[in-house]
Amino acid sequence: MDWLEQLLFPGGQFLGIRWSVWKVIGWTGNLIFFSRFFVQWYATEKLKRVVVPPAFWWLSLVGSLLLLIYAIRQRDSVFIFAYLFTWIPYIRNLVIHHRYVHAHLECLACGQRCPPHSRFCLACGAPLVARVPAPARPAGPAQ
Ligand SMILES: [Zn+2]
Repeated sequence: MDWLEQLLFPGGQFLGIRWSVWKVIGWTGNLIFFSRFFVQWYATEKLKRVVVPPAFWWLSLVGSLLLLIYAIRQRDSVFIFAYLFTWIPYIRNLVIHHRYVHAHLECLACGQRCPPHSRFCLACGAPLVARVPAPARPAGPAQ
């Protein structure tokens, strides 16, 4: 199996990179951060309008945090600063999306999100069912 190891890892490197745990963290961050472009592109092509889905912000957040960890480990001030504050708009966009989803009513017929207090769907006209909070469970003996 030495020939296989020499083929895949010539000189102890893979793809010309000498791997370590920190390289894996950095490259994982790079791949996650880069993959967000495909998610956004796919969502836009699917709806034929510019869309930034929540998955884009999650991938941005996770990828940039891994890259920040890697940059701190490398003590590279350029990359540390590049990723030091990027989490702020990512988290803010996720919070705004969360509030939007919970404030609007979803049409059970077509999936369209309609403004709060709407009685009928803006897209298909189906009656909307208001979200009713779950009833409080009566206190009982612990199981
Ligand atoms: Zn509808």
